[in-house]
This record gives sequence, C-alpha cells and structure tokens, in this order.
Amino acid sequence: MIRNLFRRKKTLPVPPVSLTDGARARQFLQQQTSFDIDEFLASQTADELFNCPLGWTADCLSVNQVAELVEGRRIEPVARRHAALCDECRQALRAYESLKNTHWANDLMIVASHRIRIPEEGPRYLVLTNRGQSGTLEQILPESVTVEGAILASGCVIRPSARRYDGFETVELHFKQFELNAPSDVKEICDWVSVEAKTRGGKLRKREFVRVFRESYG
Ligand SMILES: [Zn+2]
Repeated sequence: MIRNLFRRKKTLPVPPVSLTDGARARQFLQQQTSFDIDEFLASQTADELFNCPLGWTADCLSVNQVAELVEGRRIEPVARRHAALCDECRQALRAYESLKNTHWANDLMIVASHRIRIPEEGPRYLVLTNRGQSGTLEQILPESVTVEGAILASGCVIRPSARRYDGFETVELHFKQFELNAPSDVKEICDWVSVEAKTRGGKLRKREFVRVFRESYG
C-alpha cells in the first residue's frame, strides 16, 4: 500500500531553467510536495515514487500518469476525468508540459518505456526514435553525442535499430562509456536522462524522465 506523503498544498512554480538536469527532477517533485524528497527517495522504491499521487487526494495523478497524459498516451478514464477537474493535477500537467517543451525536440524519443536497464556486462546503448521529419537521426555526428542526468555517456557509434518501435527512424547509440549516475551501491534511480548532439544541420536535444537500473547480464 502506498502512503500518500503529499500533504500540504503549495503553488507550483515552473522550475527555473538554470538548474542542472540531475537536480531538475528532484526540484520538480519537491515543488509539488511538502517533505524532504531526498529522504523520500531513500526510503521508497522508484516504482512507489512514480506511482504516488502528487496532489491532495488519493485520485490525484502520479508522476507516471502526468507523464503519460502529457506524452499523449492513454491513462484510465477515471484518472483522466479527475485531472480535468482538479486544480493541482492541472498545475502538475502544465508544469510537466512546460518542462518538456522548454528546449527539447518533440518528435524525438529516448525509447525507454520509463525504464532503462544498464547491464553490468554486455551491450550498452540508448535507442532513439523519431516520429517527425525523416532523415533527422542520420544527421547526428556520433562523436558529439552526450548523455547527462541519470546516465552519463559521451561519444558513440550509431547503428540502425532492428526494432521499429513507434517511429519511422530508429537508431541505437552505442557508447564506450555508459555509467549510471549514482553511487555504486545504488541499483536504480529515477531521474531525467538527456541526450544532446550536433547534427550536420544544427543541434538535437531530448530529455525523458525515466527509471534506470543496473542489472547483471546473461
Ligand atoms: Zn488531483
């Protein structure tokens, strides 16, 4: 059973853009809650955190549901109806949407389904898929790619992905170095992952709020 620790009402300012990516998710959550988010993260699993109501009531949307609604995925009709009528949930949706739209490419996705595994041995890569203009991903300059937030990586080899996912253009970014940005005794973390790259025509940036965890391979 999930405890609702989100008690006191607070207005929800849009987080300032000067924050680092790593701190941004915590800041975002902290602004909607009245308790110490670091303590909460230490005492709860990522699943519980992501599925805990953000607002006053037990019907209020969780981080997962806020993300799903903003990303255009289906959520339960009951939750959708609640969000239409609840000020707090609408604020959370607006805040997430403004975060999402501040700098980042809308058609691009880091394929994760909110879950990225980092095998301790074996292949380490991120999958990007593009639902927008074709030819975007093939313009990426591999050595310019950097990943920040929950995962740290830079410089990669780009390979076409065998799987189609949702987009019509999908690639794997294979990194030489690919680290979970957490102490070695921490197996999983929920945070932003951002990918930045130069392309032949400009720059690409994309960020997703995901759960990342270490996993033994085999
Ligand atoms: Zn609500």
